Amino acid sequence: MKVMVINAGSSSLKYQVMDMDNEMVLAKGVCERIGESGVITHKLPDGQKFINELDMPTHKEAFDAVVDALTNGDGKIIDSLSEISAVGHRVVLGGSKYTESTLITQEVIDTVESLCDLAPLHNSANILGIKACQATFGCDVPQVAVFDTSFHQTMPEEAYMYAIPYEFYEKYGIRKYGYHGTSHRYVSDVCAQVMNKDKKDIKIITCHLGNGCSISAIKNGKCIDTSMGLTPLDGVVMGTRCGSIDPSIVTYLMQKENLDAAQIDSIMNKKSGLLGVSGLSNDSRDVNDAAVNGNERCKLAVKMQHYHIVKLIGAYAAAMNGVDAIVFAGGIGENNPYLRQDIMSRLTYLGVEADQQANSVPHCSDNIKISSENSKVSVFVIPTDEELAIARDTLKIVSSL
Ligand code: ADP
Repeated sequence: MKVMVINAGSSSLKYQVMDMDNEMVLAKGVCERIGESGVITHKLPDGQKFINELDMPTHKEAFDAVVDALTNGDGKIIDSLSEISAVGHRVVLGGSKYTESTLITQEVIDTVESLCDLAPLHNSANILGIKACQATFGCDVPQVAVFDTSFHQTMPEEAYMYAIPYEFYEKYGIRKYGYHGTSHRYVSDVCAQVMNKDKKDIKIITCHLGNGCSISAIKNGKCIDTSMGLTPLDGVVMGTRCGSIDPSIVTYLMQKENLDAAQIDSIMNKKSGLLGVSGLSNDSRDVNDAAVNGNERCKLAVKMQHYHIVKLIGAYAAAMNGVDAIVFAGGIGENNPYLRQDIMSRLTYLGVEADQQANSVPHCSDNIKISSENSKVSVFVIPTDEELAIARDTLKIVSSL
């Protein structure tokens, strides 16, 4: 059975087609600059790449371009769309209603739309992706929503509530929802398998470190806390996001700089983090390179990000009263041995002992254990695969129809 996975952003649409009989990727790609003169980059597993520039005023034209790339020309992998049996969509915010992936119905679309207030950029884009797909496939091909927030809905209320007047929770649903849940679920499941343990018996801290970063505490297979909050802004210092800051900074800066809500929001989401502190780049490679060459602000940005990670791992080990495994994933987690070494060297109090040789692999495309045999906590790099997790959920749901 062939499953398509769609991850629609406000001006982009990522896609992947997988053969679920062997979980092989048949093609993947991305449409960018939707809303203007768009460009589609279509890739085949053998490395062939096809780039096409064309008008993409909306997600519908972008989706048409995807269909065209899949069914025509040198990048063709199917004769017709009828070969696709189901579509899985990444949906960012499912609120507290969706604790697992679900078949998309009009009611699901209405609920996701009603949450657009809390995740305006993400959820509205996800809806556009779903509608573009529906317009092309009609109602015959089942579509499934896989929410970033679902995995985190097992958090206890003392972890997800904020100590602001309770009425704001009741009125607006203000609470911690958590994000990157599909990745935390995927890598924690793989971690349990690699350890040959039942996930119900172990405590794992998963560090998804990419442009966006989040860390989760997973006790006996259930998420009990995570670092992102109501929105994906909270927690660790990220590429352009500030992570946890004193909330008073917001009102103070608004007054001092005469900023409105949109302006302060943009500062915290787009101009902070590694970019804001370094003044150079949001990309950890650039910031690391400059730090190594003596750039003081880049050194500071790197140190701050590492410190946030160390602090959160400590907090989650405390929250779970122990930890059996720590997992690194995401663009930084999978590709930055220096960060992993630095973090591990500061967790000796937990009994972490690094295997420096194993950790020195610069780019991990496979699961590796980077702690020594004597380490009390096992530490792994586990490449995340959110698309595979989405495709598996989609297959499971449509197979039960
Ligand atoms: P996103 O959150 O956008 O999905 P990614 O998971 O792709 O982000 O991670 C992007 C981050 O990973 C960037 O900071 C980048 O510097 C880092 N990264 C990606 N590839 C490498 C690499 N080969 N070496 C070092 N860092 C990398």
